[in-house]
Amino acid sequence: MIVVKTREEIELMRESALIVSKTLGMLAKEVKPGVTTKQLDTLAEDFIRAQGALPGFLGLYDCPSTLLTSVNEAVVHGLPTDIPLKEGDIVSIDCGALKNGFYGDHAYTFEIGDVAPETKKLIQVTKESLYVGIREFKTNNRVGDVGFAIQQYCENHGYGVVRELVGHGLGKKMHEDPEMPNYGKRGRGKKFIEGMVVAIEPMINMGTHRIKQLKDGWTIVTLDGKPSVHFEHDVAIIDGNPEILSTFAYVHEALGITSNEEDEFRQKTLVL
Ligand code: MG
Ligand code: MG
Repeated sequence: MIVVKTREEIELMRESALIVSKTLGMLAKEVKPGVTTKQLDTLAEDFIRAQGALPGFLGLYDCPSTLLTSVNEAVVHGLPTDIPLKEGDIVSIDCGALKNGFYGDHAYTFEIGDVAPETKKLIQVTKESLYVGIREFKTNNRVGDVGFAIQQYCENHGYGVVRELVGHGLGKKMHEDPEMPNYGKRGRGKKFIEGMVVAIEPMINMGTHRIKQLKDGWTIVTLDGKPSVHFEHDVAIIDGNPEILSTFAYVHEALGITSNEEDEFRQKTLVL
């Protein structure tokens, strides 16, 4: 059952999404060689609590951490460890926050020092695919339109689109209907309606789309050991069009990245 949100509820959800966005911005300054993902996890938990929110993942489905930190060939659901990050690694950091009864859920893949050019390309294309998908999240489109757009964009670059893990509706629960696969067929699946809020989150592999779970019962890795990238935004339908509630602006500011991708997205959406 899809739970639509009122405008007031969407504003509360924006608040939760922005807490996660700011957490990722804070972490962006700390993600460097030598730091461990457990250290990042502690920083994130303290930061979220200081904002008057609760970590969204901690305790959910028995999750032991505030962050899910997936390094290199890890796709998603990596548990924080004492292993220091090193030059050339990438780490996908997924973070949730709960405030006013609503969840935010937002992810970014960071580069540690100098990263291989082919990995940089994977990061860039995955991030672009997120916006390609979000653009299809509007009234009268369907779940398959978002999935199709993301899949086509990434497969055109020769990448593998993970099948087993998907985006999702978001609200008073972390995972609501509908499931939002990053693959699909145009015009298929549930129809989007005003007031829906979803997390759109392409998980894209450099090689095969196939994955496996590690013995820790959490970490998902690529079957071929090649890198994987994950970006996630929280998006609402307002006046028929997608409105991104989370933002990478804090991360970009921390990393000194000049990007108008979200502004560009808004302008293009208005034109459509
Ligand atoms: Mg997430
Ligand atoms: Mg999610």
